[in-house]
Formats: sequence, C-alpha cells, structure tokens
Amino acid sequence: MPISSSVRRKASDVSGRSDFSPLASPEQYMAVALDEARLAAARGEVPIGAVLVDSEGQIIAQNGNRTIELCDPGAHAEMLVLRQAGRLRGNYRLLRTTLYVTLEPCVMCAGALVHARVSRLVYGAVDPKGGGVVSLFQVGKDTRLNHLLAVEGGLMAAESASLLKDFFRQRRGGVGKVKREK
Ligand SMILES: [Zn+2]
Repeated sequence: MPISSSVRRKASDVSGRSDFSPLASPEQYMAVALDEARLAAARGEVPIGAVLVDSEGQIIAQNGNRTIELCDPGAHAEMLVLRQAGRLRGNYRLLRTTLYVTLEPCVMCAGALVHARVSRLVYGAVDPKGGGVVSLFQVGKDTRLNHLLAVEGGLMAAESASLLKDFFRQRRGGVGKVKREK
C-alpha cells in the first residue's frame, strides 16, 4: 500500500505512547490528509485525502482517491482507508476512531463510516453538490440508522478547496497530465 512513508513514520514515532501526543492536533492529521490529496492530484485523481486515527492518536491508515487507477467507483479516499484499517485490525468495525478527510464525504462514504462504526468525522471543505453528511444528506445524524457519527467540518477548508479548484481548473484547461506551467 502506498502509504506516505515519511508521514507514517512521523506518526508512528508518537504511537504506542499513552501520554498525549504532540502530533495529535486535528490540524496535523488534516495536514496528512491534505498531503494524500496532493499525491492523488499528482496521479491524476481528484485531490481528496483521508486519514483514520485511533483513540491513542495513532494513524491506522491514510490514502487518497484512486478511482481511475483501480477502475473502481468505490475507490474514494475514505473507502480505501476504511478497508485498509479493517484488514489491519482484522475487524470491519473500526470502533473509537476518527476519520479526517479533506472534503465532506459522499453518501457512499458516509454510509461506510456508519457501517464501520467510526466514532467521529472531521472534514475540510463542504461539498454542496455531493456531500452526504451536511449538504445533501445528513447520514451521520439520521437517527433511523443504528449508528450516529460526531461530525465536525471546515477544518483547513480553504486549503482543501483550493486543491480541488486548481485541479479542476487545470482539467478544464485541457491539461491532462500534471504539467509545470512556466
Ligand atoms: Zn465518497
């Protein structure tokens, strides 16, 4: 799995310690997710990144969108991270975890977060056209489902939105590959 090794190493330095980790600020986890989003853009994928963190503050899994690479409509960053974490834990239920993702999850991913029993979701930018937790649907807050999700949004939203904006602007400009301008 293409885990960004430098970030992963940085994160695991503080893992396994019971005292409060200095890395454990939401901004730092979101920065890891943003790095994954940038890596996704470099692969020609929509720049969205996600990180799953356990209750000790350790990063369990991190990834970015890979729908094109894997020819898989389900290969959103969040889904890849949940699958990876499930395999690592040997359990599809990812209790006491927090998912950090650069963009508000879609309905599929929000549903998967409920299935995985993730405790908390922290996202960056809102997605008014496809968001499944606040914008179009409120999957994590729907009491008809058997699991509720604590949802916080807007963390480093400007950075996340500008990655997406740049990516789509470049796409519209007919730039198929990552290309250095001037
Ligand atoms: Zn999704």
